[in-house]
Amino acid sequence: MVNWTVDVPIEELPELPPLPGNLADRFADAISRPAEQQPSWPADKARAMRTVLESVPPICMPAEVDNLSAQLAEVAQGRAFLLQGGDCAETFADNTEPHIKANIRTLLQMAVVLTYGASTPVVKVARIAGQYAKPRSSNVDALGLPSYRGDMVNGFPAEESVRIHDPSRLVRAYANAAAAMNLVRSLTGRAGMAGLHRVHDWNREFVLTSPAGARYEALAAEIDRGLKFMDACGVNDSNLDSAAIFASHEALVLDYERGMLRLADDPQHPDDPDSKRLYDLSAHFLWIGDRTRQIDGAHIALAELISNPIGLKIGPSTTPELAADYVRKLDPNKIPGRLTLVARMGNDKVRTLLPPIVSAVEETGHKVIWQCDPMHGNTHTSPTGYKTRHFDRVVDEVQGFFEVHRALGSHPGGIHIELTGEDVTECLGGAQEISDLDLAGRYETACDPRLNTQQALELAFLVAEMLRG
Ligand code: PEP
Ligand code: MN
Repeated sequence: MVNWTVDVPIEELPELPPLPGNLADRFADAISRPAEQQPSWPADKARAMRTVLESVPPICMPAEVDNLSAQLAEVAQGRAFLLQGGDCAETFADNTEPHIKANIRTLLQMAVVLTYGASTPVVKVARIAGQYAKPRSSNVDALGLPSYRGDMVNGFPAEESVRIHDPSRLVRAYANAAAAMNLVRSLTGRAGMAGLHRVHDWNREFVLTSPAGARYEALAAEIDRGLKFMDACGVNDSNLDSAAIFASHEALVLDYERGMLRLADDPQHPDDPDSKRLYDLSAHFLWIGDRTRQIDGAHIALAELISNPIGLKIGPSTTPELAADYVRKLDPNKIPGRLTLVARMGNDKVRTLLPPIVSAVEETGHKVIWQCDPMHGNTHTSPTGYKTRHFDRVVDEVQGFFEVHRALGSHPGGIHIELTGEDVTECLGGAQEISDLDLAGRYETACDPRLNTQQALELAFLVAEMLRG
């Protein structure tokens, strides 16, 4: 086994200069707060690894983050839709060209279905290039071993020694994220595969014969006709040749996120040192999980300090009052799209629990993005022992989410799903009618079950109809 690393002389790295203005105090306060779900590893070793992260080139740049923020403002105001998806847990072993390509291709296909089907601009955010840490409901797994907490913390194989929390994985996570982001950038750039003229190509390796594949092919043919028409008219927009895909992950392990913080000039006041802004440049978009959203905890306090757009998962225990408190705390300047509330209630609860939350938040006057995560409230264990989700419940939660927003006049702004571009058998149902017995065939996830390409595309067609509706 060869591990990637970063070659910097740890001993010679300088201490960072103190943060300017009141940021220093606020930062010190944030990291002194209680933090759930943190690795148990030696603080001095973690500190040394943080020093490395503080000196490496960031995964993304502030101007890109600001560009995403501008696009999310459009979503928050009802003029665009946010599509977010990818692996539950990325792994170092699966950080390969075929895997990344397949996931990006699936996301692009879904985006095309939504853009064309619902005539809506779609902001695309992948769970990629940093989704290496997982919150767990128990410290031990079924075998009594320390739980797998993502490749940033420990290893997946069921061996005691591999499950030890190892801070050198912080640097490996960074190195893997950098490599993944490099490929994402090139796939989505001019020379990559994301140009609309290639809509057919995306389908090639994929089952044209499947119902979702055939339906996609028909849509791609329509798009092709449109492009040819535009060509004939002399319309040639560079927007058709590339697609922006932004990177996101759960901001869970504070040692990693702290290490990737960078100060940047405020474009409006470039010469004023006191107006510098703090970014977490491990990703464009970061979200806080349902298990680490304690309102007085470190995760929320750190999120308050950074200029990236923030997501917040809200599960069934979220009260309307608490949701309004989160919004005031995380969006004090009332910037549309600064905060995305990701409801993950479960299909049986979304219709009752979400409406009072939406009402309470809309009443504050803040413009948040309402995003539906139809995955995490709909997990069960199959009789064959696999953690799974049924496609019908996933669809029903999105349907319920749309019903709630239609009734209240708010914008159903996006979906957040776990998917892979491979033909895995992790979620039940869909046109392939994956059954409990089929799960064993290709159950490959390191954590939660993901929709496969066909299920993801099917979902996109259904959501496009809901958006049109
Ligand atoms: C996840 O998105 O993988 C996750 C753990 O979600 P949640 O925090 O909503 O449970
Ligand atoms: Mn998950």
